[in-house]
Amino acid sequence: MTKIAFFNIRPGEKESLQDKMGEIEADFFETPINSKNLPEKKDYEIISILGLSKIDEDVLKALPNLKLITTRSTGFDQIDLEASEKSGVLVSNVPTYGEETVAEYTIALLLALSRKIPQAINKVKQEKTFHSQGLTGFDLIGKTLGVIGTGHIGTHVIKIAKGFGMKIAAFDAYPNQNLAQDLGFEYTSLENLLNNSDVITLHVPLLPSTNHLINLDNINLIKKGTVIVNTSRGEVLQTEALIKALEEGILSGAALDVIENEKALRVSKKQEFFPQLNKLLEMDNVLISPHNAYNTEEAKEKIQQTTIDNIKSFLNGNPINLVKPK
Ligand code: NAD
Repeated sequence: MTKIAFFNIRPGEKESLQDKMGEIEADFFETPINSKNLPEKKDYEIISILGLSKIDEDVLKALPNLKLITTRSTGFDQIDLEASEKSGVLVSNVPTYGEETVAEYTIALLLALSRKIPQAINKVKQEKTFHSQGLTGFDLIGKTLGVIGTGHIGTHVIKIAKGFGMKIAAFDAYPNQNLAQDLGFEYTSLENLLNNSDVITLHVPLLPSTNHLINLDNINLIKKGTVIVNTSRGEVLQTEALIKALEEGILSGAALDVIENEKALRVSKKQEFFPQLNKLLEMDNVLISPHNAYNTEEAKEKIQQTTIDNIKSFLNGNPINLVKPK
């Protein structure tokens, strides 16, 4: 029987995964897997992981029988794809569970920023006052939304933003002109997008080419007063550049579902090793949520089902949803 292990299992997940697996047996661990945290048994052929795990050459060497890594996420930056390919290990992901889910959350964060929703709720709940002083926001209609990355999530964000009457400026390393024609938007350069957007939203995967895509060198191109939303990966937006832009009023607000080094933060549950985070937490115009954009019942169900489909298709000799190094 093929040896299978699931890592980073969340409370309640084991039962529903086992249910979907039927006869297929597996081991379940709450902990992530990485070079310093290896399982006792080293003969697993299939492992299923989440973002907190890290698969590098050391892990691949430690598990010599490994044939498939399937991540229960869209992002796969926690897996060294080249090293996996060299070791003959296939990698699969959940490519499309959450375009609507993450796009809805992106727009929710944008509305929270533009209409100061958290501050408005706090005023009534915590301050016990019922007036709207200090809560003036801005309309989305007619504003330009700069969408960086027009893949699954970016596309859905564009569709929703169009419903709000926003104009779209898009940037992608691989522009999809058919999509642009169908949805009625135009691609532009990153520089132009930063220059002309009232709102910027990030939807690229974390790759060497997108690490610090927004950085100290280009943050000054952003139009004064723009707000930024990041539901992609923290490392896409250089924290130092973000803080500088907020301090200098280049950005008038930021909503972040992801932050740089968040993995370390989640493992240690301590914030003191990351003083930049404390700086951001002190700013009233910065909203931070704990990597929560994917988190709906529907998305979780789809993530689990696709993962089981990935495993079953591999066992049947016809693996699906494979991710290759670019
Ligand atoms: P996708 O692969 O469908 O789209 C990514 C787009 O980015 C593609 O169009 C691609 O051409 C473009 N791209 C790649 N490299 C680029 C570069 N260097 N410059 C400009 N564009 C580039 O991915 P998706 O499903 O839309 O998801 C995007 C990312 O969102 C994921 O990789 C993941 O990191 C993140 N995500 C976050 C959450 C969350 O809970 N916060 C949930 C799901 C996904």
